[in-house]
Amino acid sequence: MKTFIKTLKQGSLVGLLGAVTAFSTATAQNMDEVEIKTEDLGNGLYVMFGSGGNIGVSVGEDGVIMVDDQYAPLTDRILAALSEVTDEQVLFVLNTHYHFDHTGGNENLGREGSIIVAHDHVYDKVSVDFNHETFGRVFPAMAKEGLPKITFNDQMSFRINGDNARAFYAPNAHTDGDSMIYFKNADVLHMGDIYFNYLYPFIDVFAGGTVDGVLKAQREALEMVDDSTQIIPGHGPMASKDDLIINYEMIKDVRNRVAKLKADGVSLEDVISHAPSADYDEKFNWDFINAEKFVTSIYETLP
Ligand SMILES: [Zn+2]
Repeated sequence: MKTFIKTLKQGSLVGLLGAVTAFSTATAQNMDEVEIKTEDLGNGLYVMFGSGGNIGVSVGEDGVIMVDDQYAPLTDRILAALSEVTDEQVLFVLNTHYHFDHTGGNENLGREGSIIVAHDHVYDKVSVDFNHETFGRVFPAMAKEGLPKITFNDQMSFRINGDNARAFYAPNAHTDGDSMIYFKNADVLHMGDIYFNYLYPFIDVFAGGTVDGVLKAQREALEMVDDSTQIIPGHGPMASKDDLIINYEMIKDVRNRVAKLKADGVSLEDVISHAPSADYDEKFNWDFINAEKFVTSIYETLP
């Protein structure tokens, strides 16, 4: 199991770094080696692991809803994996947020006729050349085919395949345009990057993410789920309510320690040297988000 999680952590790292170095040669080479692994969650729901954000798939007589689509070079492999479980077309693609490791397949899927759906703020970012100052690069506007054709500002439902799949906006969490989607009958919740399973969270501060938004969204998720719910995190292996509680308590705990120090006037540099997340580092640290980056994102986004 440890090896499995380690592999997934490495996969996630490729995914997130890929968000920064998308389309670079190094990423293209990494992509050649990526295999799409499908896990059957029952009741027509599947999760696909490849490189980038975990993909959720709802399959049924009306067609397919796909939640996130990783990177453009993987679309053929993702569709090949999908053809192993259904002959139906991808009707809708929900982007949980704008990051390129979740939306890279949009243009390919849009050209195949899929309708892309996302929160309004996702559209605002992917429809323009988005200059991300923290990443130090400009994410070019998507071609027309990749843009969301349906956008929403709060909630929306997909009433197909005998389910009521409800997407919820989570303001200022991982970014300013996150949504999670709950497949009610199948009892599967896809949380996008609002939740990384056994990894420190990445808060995209430049794009409007905040620690309190992440905690609020996770609290709302916890109210929605029960012990039998299967949770798809944005990165990391499948999760249960108990896993999400562990993650939530960890973030809340570190957040409160940082808040106390900040309220006492302690500088960011000194807060980092206090190591407020030390007792969690072994379990949650990873190459992309280490303790220092995690603590910095909390400090910067506390009110
Ligand atoms: Zn993300």
